[in-house]
Amino acid sequence: MPISPLQSIRVRLTFWYAMTLAVILAVSALFSYHYFSHSLRKDIDNQLYVIAETLENSKGQLLADQPEQNCNALTDIAHRHNWGAYIMVRGKNLETLCTSDNLLDQELPFGPVARQQARWLHAHIENEQVHGLLDKNLSIRLLSYPIIIDSRLHGVLQIGKTLGTMQQAVEELRVIYLVVGPFAIFWLCLGCWVLADRSLSPVIEVTEAAQQITADNLGCRLPSVTRRDELAQMVHVLNQMLDRLEASFRRIRQFSGDASHELRTPLTILRGETEVTLRWAKTPEEFRDMLHSNMEEIDRMERIIESLLTLAKSEAGELTLEIKSLSLSDLVQELYLQGRILGETKSISVDLDLKVDQEIRIMGDELRLRQLFLNLISNGIKYTQDGGSLTITLAKEQNMAVIKISDTGIGIAEQHLPHIFDRFYRVDKARNRMDGGTGLGLAIVKWIVETHGGSIQVTSTPNLGSTFTVRLPIEGPADKTPKSTQLR
Ligand code: ADP
Repeated sequence: MPISPLQSIRVRLTFWYAMTLAVILAVSALFSYHYFSHSLRKDIDNQLYVIAETLENSKGQLLADQPEQNCNALTDIAHRHNWGAYIMVRGKNLETLCTSDNLLDQELPFGPVARQQARWLHAHIENEQVHGLLDKNLSIRLLSYPIIIDSRLHGVLQIGKTLGTMQQAVEELRVIYLVVGPFAIFWLCLGCWVLADRSLSPVIEVTEAAQQITADNLGCRLPSVTRRDELAQMVHVLNQMLDRLEASFRRIRQFSGDASHELRTPLTILRGETEVTLRWAKTPEEFRDMLHSNMEEIDRMERIIESLLTLAKSEAGELTLEIKSLSLSDLVQELYLQGRILGETKSISVDLDLKVDQEIRIMGDELRLRQLFLNLISNGIKYTQDGGSLTITLAKEQNMAVIKISDTGIGIAEQHLPHIFDRFYRVDKARNRMDGGTGLGLAIVKWIVETHGGSIQVTSTPNLGSTFTVRLPIEGPADKTPKSTQLR
């Protein structure tokens, strides 16, 4: 599936990284710019107030009734301190009394707001443009400072300082931000792109490798990532999933092969026998014998197909268990009687060992449970020599009903035990076939036990016998909806 550039994680990652960093940069630039210009202005304001307070201390000389003396005093103080500030002294009617030398007889602006504030005995500070001062237009910071005696306005000191150096510094800072900002963002984008590219390159590798994996080469695995991060974990999990899929596919192939083989064998026999009879048989008895033999093969095919259908339906979740309360004690009793009839044909004695003195009731599907135990009992009889014995035991362990079916038959060698619940698995293929076995009985048994929330175990000693132990929860399956068993 092609990915459009806008949907690409790399593009989106780069975009969001760059956006976030650009916003952080812009916010910090704005903040530092304002902080810087504010602190510079505060610095100038402090200087203006210091000058004003110094001058205020000499208010007697500055506001004396002789104007000339006032101006001399101002020039004297200004020279002594070398403030480099523009100073104007105004009288109580806000009229000009004198100006510092550097003003060259020009007046400092005194706007209506500053005037009003002075009348209210408040100092006022503002930025002002002074035109034509030293033949230049100057931006100054101007403090209008009232001189108060006995709560009355006696005059106003106006002190101005050029904003030149401060403005230059602030301006330089702005230029730095404007020039360096885009440059920094460009490098950030590039860095983010490279970073995203490096982090995602294993994903691309894995994607490409995954594209090569099909049902025909399920043995291939995704390349392992050397780093120990989330991606390595994902690759590990995907490879585990591929292991499972491969095993499932192998089992399905094996199963289809086995199923067709199992169905082909009786068909071949049917065809062979029919052909021989048609060619050679002459008497009705010979034809009857052939039909009788054909009937056995048809029976066998029917059993295989029925079992396969049961398993297929169980997997598709189409087999619903009819869970209801039933007497396991009664069921086992009935099965024991049936087992005795089955055993009679081979003179096998069938015994019932009830290890409980009370009736055991469980929640389960009676039909399926009957099928489960009949399978085990008929297997026990099938794989036990004439004259042997089979014992059915019913017991209770806490909230589990335990049913054991033990025989004194041929037993199962240890290496076969893990496989006997697999479909079509038979220990002795030729012999089991002659016994009428399909190799599906125990797969169905296992499914029934598991859908009831129980478990099945087998212990066996060759030539001594086998014991199948089924444990079923009294309460029935926790999940009462049909469960499907995995293909084995
Ligand atoms: P089958 O129809 O061949 O009996 P099952 O699925 O019932 O198929 O059993 C699988 C295989 O397990 C049998 O073919 C047989 O080899 C072995 N088996 C099952 N039950 C017994 C038993 N009670 N004693 C010995 N072998 C058994």
